[in-house]
Amino acid sequence: MAKRDYYEVLGVPKGASDEEIKKAYRRLARKYHPDVNKDDPNAEEKFKEINEAHEILSDSQKRAAYDRFGHAGTDPNFGAGAGGFGDFSFDGFGDIFDMFFGGGGGRSRKTGPQRGADLRYDLRIEFEEAAFGKEIVINIPRAELCPECHGNKAKPGTPIKTCPNCNGTGQVQFVQNTAFGRFSSVKTCEQCRGEGKTFETPCPECVGRGRVRRTSKIKVNIPAGVDNGYRLRVAEEGEAGERGGPAGDLYVYITVKPHPHFQRVGNDIVLEQAISYAQAVLGGTVEVPTLEGKADLKIPEGTQPGTLFRIRGKGIPHLRGYGRGDELVRVKIDVPTRLTPEQREAVQQLAEAFGDEILPQDKGFFDKVKDAFGK
Ligand SMILES: [Zn+2]
Ligand SMILES: [Zn+2]
Repeated sequence: MAKRDYYEVLGVPKGASDEEIKKAYRRLARKYHPDVNKDDPNAEEKFKEINEAHEILSDSQKRAAYDRFGHAGTDPNFGAGAGGFGDFSFDGFGDIFDMFFGGGGGRSRKTGPQRGADLRYDLRIEFEEAAFGKEIVINIPRAELCPECHGNKAKPGTPIKTCPNCNGTGQVQFVQNTAFGRFSSVKTCEQCRGEGKTFETPCPECVGRGRVRRTSKIKVNIPAGVDNGYRLRVAEEGEAGERGGPAGDLYVYITVKPHPHFQRVGNDIVLEQAISYAQAVLGGTVEVPTLEGKADLKIPEGTQPGTLFRIRGKGIPHLRGYGRGDELVRVKIDVPTRLTPEQREAVQQLAEAFGDEILPQDKGFFDKVKDAFGK
């Protein structure tokens, strides 16, 4: 399925301000939050889409990449083939910006330590895993600091020198003539790419990039009580930083698989349990499933269909808190479709005892409605 435009998802124009984006996001997130849209199977997808759009458009760097390259620009793997490791070159922007506004803006990002990009991982877990939590190991493809040169980019043991082109500042002055006049500006040193340092022999492991692409196993602790749409942050397990900058974070987005018996409502779970007509009339004990094995449920005499029984403390544990929700058992009465001759006789005797009039052929429902309206 083709991805929708992020601006369209949030319903804002392309040039929307950060404030407009934030407002639109808050409004939509409230509207489509899975907790308030239990009956809408599309709400969860929609909520995810809104979150994703917001994540990109609220981050100036990601937004710029999206504006420029579309959805491809937001893929963490984007540019890997070209040796870019996902860090886009914003030289084009920077230079234009500097030309009119005198430089400085955005420059520091290019020369100073740069934090690595955040990564997103979508994880589908079992209902029970969401309820009780689990430690899960996931494989994350990402840019990591080169284990050989530790990000220095030079072959270990070979000299790293101050860049002669910029004297280690990472920037060079330049003058440009434009239709608006002569502009003196600063741009990133091309020789050292803004790092202020050069090396003679690039590290063979990373070919002088300082980072390598690896798929690593990351342990993720799913806390007990998570629900659909929960976002788990794993600090500094995103892409490696540049020039000594910290790694980005890894965000794990949780989707919970539906359970064959239980439906979740907040921290309570709801179970539909069929009991026999005799059990409903006479009362008794039925065995019902819980999240941890079976439990006995007492059915009082004369239980009506749809009656809700509560088994305390058998629901979902509160996320990062104490206590648990309950298990709610909604009783339905099983009307047998086939009877043995003995059973049939017993039911007939029962009906007679109640004084019921049993018509050999009862009128259909619609006929009764017609009668009621006198047609
Ligand atoms: Zn290396
Ligand atoms: Zn330089």
